[in-house]
Amino acid sequence: MEPARPYRLGLVGHPVAHSRSPDIHRAALAATGLAGAYELFDAPSVVDLEARLAELRAGALDGLNVTLPHKRDAALRCDTLEGDASTLGVANTLVVRQGRLVGHNTDAEGLARAIEARWPARAWSGRAVLVLGAGGAAYAAVLAARRLGLAEVRVWNRTRARADELAQALGQARVSVFDDAREGAAGVALIVQAGSGDMGLAPESDAWEQAVVRALPIVSGSAPDAALVDLVYKPRRTTWVEAATRAGRDADDGLAMLVHQARLAFTLWTGREPPLEPLLRALEG
Ligand code: NAP
Repeated sequence: MEPARPYRLGLVGHPVAHSRSPDIHRAALAATGLAGAYELFDAPSVVDLEARLAELRAGALDGLNVTLPHKRDAALRCDTLEGDASTLGVANTLVVRQGRLVGHNTDAEGLARAIEARWPARAWSGRAVLVLGAGGAAYAAVLAARRLGLAEVRVWNRTRARADELAQALGQARVSVFDDAREGAAGVALIVQAGSGDMGLAPESDAWEQAVVRALPIVSGSAPDAALVDLVYKPRRTTWVEAATRAGRDADDGLAMLVHQARLAFTLWTGREPPLEPLLRALEG
């Protein structure tokens, strides 16, 4: 139900100052013709998070996104968790329904939609995916891969124990953990890079080039028709997108996932699904 005043939406986390979410949601408000604002709420502590949750419960806010480090804390404070938020115990989108604080997680569905939109003709069914990383984004990647029909999920992470935890949490029978990323990549149809190690490296800097050279033999072992998604989107020309391009594979960065998960959140808050194009355009440049 639409509020009597303009929508008041926002993102709570720490840090939030450089988030692209306001650009996306302001474009969504404009594209749907709804009046409202999307604010950034810096929350260094759980007490700060709780203050925003109280505003949401009281109706002073109409919807909240949650980012690091509070996604789990937010889920723990919800009255109900739906869908992937319930599977993962992690929420990135909050809304109040009939007085109850409801937590959703739009990351996995956002990633699945981004992949479907980028490669609409691919048949993933029965094939293998390699997920690099074992943090929150990697969990979303595993759920997205299953949703796309990929039969075999392989995981590699710098810290093996975290990959084992992920496999345990998401069903060991269908998730195998690799010590060597090159072995894990052999013949896969899709690589999802969900690690934050190369985030922010300046394109063509020495560190960026070294990271590309490290990634190249991993990507080169994937199937010749494989695709790669790097969930990192800063810079746009990420090390893994560059490595995939050099290896002759199709690749995309994480911006499309960001837009698709935001679009799902906006729809949960307002009941209106914004068109995709203006949201993507809002992030250009
Ligand atoms: P997280 O929970 O903190 O996990 C970080 C992951 O990166 C872990 O697997 C960690 O390995 C690995 N890592 C960190 N530094 C590393 C290094 N120097 N070398 C190798 N691996 C390293 O973070 P997250 O939430 O999963 O996010 C991961 C990335 O995905 C971030 O870049 C984030 O911006 C991006 N992301 C994008 C979207 C999107 O919409 N596009 C959504 C969510 C996240 P260890 O376990 O060994 O520490």
